[in-house]
Amino acid sequence: MKVAKFGGTSLASAEQIKKVCDIVTADPDRRLIVVSAPGKRSKEDIKVTDLLINLANKFIADGSAEEELKAVVARYNDIAEELGVPGEVVSVIEEDLRQRLAAGTANPDKFMDSLKAAGEDNCAKVVARYLSSKGYDAKYINPKDAGMILSDEFGNARVLPESYDKLKALGELPGILIFPGFFGYSEAGDVVTFPRGGSDITGSILAAAVNADVYENFTDVDSVYAANPNLIENPKAIPVFTYREMRELSYAGFSVLHEETLEPVYRKGIPVNIKNTNNPSAPGTLIVPKREVNNGPVVGIACDKGFCSLYISKYMMNREIGFGRKVLQILEDESISYEHTPSGIDNISVILREKQFDIATEERVTKRLKEELEVDDVFVGRNKALVMVVGEGMTHTIGLAVRATGALAKSGINIEMINQGSSEVSMMFGIDEADNVKAVKALYDEFFS
Ligand code: ASP
Repeated sequence: MKVAKFGGTSLASAEQIKKVCDIVTADPDRRLIVVSAPGKRSKEDIKVTDLLINLANKFIADGSAEEELKAVVARYNDIAEELGVPGEVVSVIEEDLRQRLAAGTANPDKFMDSLKAAGEDNCAKVVARYLSSKGYDAKYINPKDAGMILSDEFGNARVLPESYDKLKALGELPGILIFPGFFGYSEAGDVVTFPRGGSDITGSILAAAVNADVYENFTDVDSVYAANPNLIENPKAIPVFTYREMRELSYAGFSVLHEETLEPVYRKGIPVNIKNTNNPSAPGTLIVPKREVNNGPVVGIACDKGFCSLYISKYMMNREIGFGRKVLQILEDESISYEHTPSGIDNISVILREKQFDIATEERVTKRLKEELEVDDVFVGRNKALVMVVGEGMTHTIGLAVRATGALAKSGINIEMINQGSSEVSMMFGIDEADNVKAVKALYDEFFS
């Protein structure tokens, strides 16, 4: 059995949905299908999920949002008309949206998630309807009935372990199953969504639950490339990555897969095949537990912005038992997760995602560090980027750090932090955000040109 997930651009129009259905029906093993909400038809277009967020925000602010509602219904209407599915589908969708609105905005996060989930939910119904109208045995699967149980963190949910046993039963159902991505239900029965882009996560959970032979992730590129094609002209296509490589690259901004996607399939060793809906015969990129290293030490260069560093120094810090724990406890008290902690003898930097660390939080944390830990110095550096050089072949290869730092130096880039775990599968450099494009180009030229 294959689990196939189709992203927003693959479902953006009737023409794209027809391609999806051709791909699904071309292989009888493709039986569990996960769909995103319709995405952008062109660069200027708006994703249905964003239309739904506009709708929810307007309704929260004004108590009505007819224009915004019409915009969502119109997208589905265009699709349904061109697909030739019965007209009542659109009135059912409109009714569904009105019911979600009528549920009330007393808890705005809950209200927002219910609206956001409508994109995927209605898309799955339309796709199932279209396949049935063509004579295929296809049905929409309701995530609640199937047992997609998530933590009650609106907009940021995680799957609960008991889901896997429940979802396993999908493997036994006949026909083609169309499962909406991006959301599930809390134990209390509320709709909860994963972070944005989270339909990838749904596909991965389902693949792990039914023990699929492969998790196919259909998007709009032929392959995953060694660097961001928006920054590097014609970057090298990479046919195979390991989970570790892909995890490191998606952490640092490779947007092909949502960062959290690989965890469920990784635990089961299920390969992921990234393929192109617009060119399904291309082999795509495979993500596997292990690969042969025959294409050089480095497979990818990634860079992500939006980090900040909390620098703390105290004379004789290395002799103070529990110092690091106390620093991290202060962050935990603020519900902040940290990314890295490069350290010296008498200093430690904690690298954080900037969005978690606004000025008010900074003031509270700084005050506690000074008062409770009596640090000599503490300051926050903002607008930082992390650039990463990744590859399984880097292990035991001598001279890579000198090549990477040399390339950055030649481009006049100051390295503020260097981090290499003992797995040696990646090297990470903290730089100023303004240098991010220059850094990717310098490293790409060094390792791929
Ligand atoms: N539709 C959702 C989003 O735009 C989820 C997804 O497409 O994966 O974020």
